[in-house]
Amino acid sequence: MNYISTRGRTPPMGFQDAVLTGLAPDGGLLIPTELPRVDDRLEAWSKLSYQDITFEILRLFVDLPDADLRHLIERSYMTFRHPEIAPAWPVGPVHILELFHGPTLAFKDIALQFLSNFFEYILKRRDGHLNILGATSGDTGSAAIHGVRGRERINIFIMHPHGRVAPLQEKQMTSVLDSNVFNIAVEGTFDDCQRIMKTLFNDLAFKQRHALGAVNSVNWARVLVQIVYYFSSGLYVMQTTGAKEVQFAVPTGNFGDVLAGYYAWRMGLPIRRLILATNENDILARFFETGVYSLGKVVPTLSPSMDIQVASNFERYLYCKVGGDPARLTGLMNDFAARGALSIPVGPSGRVDELFIPGVGTTADTLATIRRYDREHGYLLDPHTAVGVRVAEQHLAPGAPTICLATAHPAKFSQAIREATGREARHEILDNLAHAPTRCEVLPADTGAIKAFIEQRVG
Ligand SMILES: *Cc1c(COP(=O)(O)O)cnc(C)c1O
Repeated sequence: MNYISTRGRTPPMGFQDAVLTGLAPDGGLLIPTELPRVDDRLEAWSKLSYQDITFEILRLFVDLPDADLRHLIERSYMTFRHPEIAPAWPVGPVHILELFHGPTLAFKDIALQFLSNFFEYILKRRDGHLNILGATSGDTGSAAIHGVRGRERINIFIMHPHGRVAPLQEKQMTSVLDSNVFNIAVEGTFDDCQRIMKTLFNDLAFKQRHALGAVNSVNWARVLVQIVYYFSSGLYVMQTTGAKEVQFAVPTGNFGDVLAGYYAWRMGLPIRRLILATNENDILARFFETGVYSLGKVVPTLSPSMDIQVASNFERYLYCKVGGDPARLTGLMNDFAARGALSIPVGPSGRVDELFIPGVGTTADTLATIRRYDREHGYLLDPHTAVGVRVAEQHLAPGAPTICLATAHPAKFSQAIREATGREARHEILDNLAHAPTRCEVLPADTGAIKAFIEQRVG
């Protein structure tokens, strides 16, 4: 499988190069030249373990020997605390897909454990080094840091918005003291962090000089690995309920997670609808409602990992929407860069896409949903998951069970849980952080300052 850029001005490359490259040199995102259809394998896949489904899906997209791929997958999921890796349970009217059994208790571990092992594998084979640069609204940073801490050949620089990530999320990152880990608290928003990151990746001389690598979901490997749990849970729920199709509710920020669901649908998983849930930062919900993608102001909420206005993966979807026409896509992205808005025509039904059902869960909805699921079903939802569940409840469909992606363990957001239920959500991994020493650099939201810091540290 080869990878090309959404902007059409990067020569095709293989999987290993695509993963090392991160953002395409022409400023676009890398995508596979085709999406294989797998309809005729679903029956067989429904009997496989999580690791085996991962193997079957990844081997369609990668340029690695089978034995090496299997080994990387086994290693990546050894660190999970649940034997099924991503179990799904019926809870009230929905099914909850628990994606938080990895080392940092958020769904990002599922892809980043694999990506870290993969980076190490390629760098060894190529005798190379990598300086990972990432921006995080909280969970990507800790998942990436925990993936690569202490590994040879890799340094990691993670920017987070100063004071805007949950205290425990911050502690999970800054308490990692390995000498290859650099935490940077940027005096700005997550969008500032993401903008600085994109600027540095687009500085091709800088990128090359320091072998910059990406762990954000601009990296194709992230999206690819996330496709797996749509298949594993969809097949499982269809098997246990006898349904012929399912729908998914996905709490959304950067459009990485739900994009993986979109690709699963295009590969042939019978998905009736993808319920796209945002918090008050609703640029994506507004887009799917109206066809207009226009920048709003970021407001802090109880689900900080979704406090995003510029969704980095949206470009991959838009590319499909304009029929894979790089010139048209580039025009739209230039509109957005110049005016903070772009628009595409809506269909006859008044919707941009029949597959996507958008919805917003407010702060009040989030708290009420957490409280209600605790009382009525004895299940604690984290605030991100609660946004998805809340919107899902408005779109239940007979004959298509709804699978809600649970993207974080509730204990990561203990303040919201306390506010909603009056109870404490705890997890021993987090309890152990309470008195841990930390290391972090506070820097202005200025590309030059971040660049200088990186240059100084890598020498
Ligand atoms: C990252 C994150 C999200 C949003 O995922 P995207 O891929 O950015 O849409 C939702 N919930 C949690 C807990 C997250 O960490």
